Amino acid sequence: MSMAIPDLQDVVAEIADEMRQRVDRGDVATYIPELARVDPGHFGIAVIDAEGHVATGGDADTPFSIQSISKVFTLTLALGLAGDRLWQRVGREPSGSRFNSIVQLESERGIPRNPFINAGAIAVTDLILSGHQPREALGEILRFLQFLADDTTIQIDKAVAASEQRTGFRNAALANYMKSYGVLDNPVDFTLGVYFHHCAISMSCRQLATAGRFLAHLGRNPSTGFSVVTPERARRINAVMLTCGHYDGSGEFAYRVGLPGKSGVGGGIIAIAPGKASIAVWSPGLDESGNSHLGRIALEALAKRLNLSIFGS
Ligand code: GLU
Repeated sequence: MSMAIPDLQDVVAEIADEMRQRVDRGDVATYIPELARVDPGHFGIAVIDAEGHVATGGDADTPFSIQSISKVFTLTLALGLAGDRLWQRVGREPSGSRFNSIVQLESERGIPRNPFINAGAIAVTDLILSGHQPREALGEILRFLQFLADDTTIQIDKAVAASEQRTGFRNAALANYMKSYGVLDNPVDFTLGVYFHHCAISMSCRQLATAGRFLAHLGRNPSTGFSVVTPERARRINAVMLTCGHYDGSGEFAYRVGLPGKSGVGGGIIAIAPGKASIAVWSPGLDESGNSHLGRIALEALAKRLNLSIFGS
């Protein structure tokens, strides 16, 4: 039996109000020049419960750069294409290193630790690209998100993609390094082009929370009845989100929030309360691990007030 969450809109509005007033907002990412222009004053939140009730607060309908949150959806697509073969090219252990670190790649012979650090996500993108032109692969990813969010207006922010393409030297280094070990099948430029563009997809909290619903409900969107993945796969994607979704801040996020989640340097976080809710928050200022500062604080408050932690109340 699915359950509605009582007082959901009140709690969400209260948290949005608290976040609006905070002065500690973290720092926006500057290494992608286009992201440095985003106003750190934004805060948005959307929560969708098991019955499909949507509660929103703040800038819940303002699109932002989803960045690494896209990696949850490329992982889902790649598992659909390759099944468990995917795990031959990427691990599923937390990295304990920064999101764009290259050190582990050397000692682990070009196999990235997990699909959510940059190197791992580039390897996943390369798998989706195989057998396609970059434009087709990107179209697949975009259409998948439009389908999941039930919204065909979702688009790629070309300025963000171009900005990252111009300055993504470290990602190029990671990709070339993996290529030297034969981990990537496609030309490095093609794989990186698709990667930069899927990171540059813009979505609002409402759209992201909608897109995440299948992960909260055993692989199925309870509103439409569409099965996206098997229950086992949904469980496993959530497990990887819990252990690796916040880079070297994943332990802290599990400790404070207690939900599988994935952050992006655009300041968004998607979080899944299995059986209960799909949640998205956005605040562009980041903490020292590259995760949304107020986003995490808001999720901690939400999980606490609604008893959402997977570890019990
Ligand atoms: N596109 C970003 C990069 O590759 C993603 C990083 C993130 O969102 O954490 O650096």
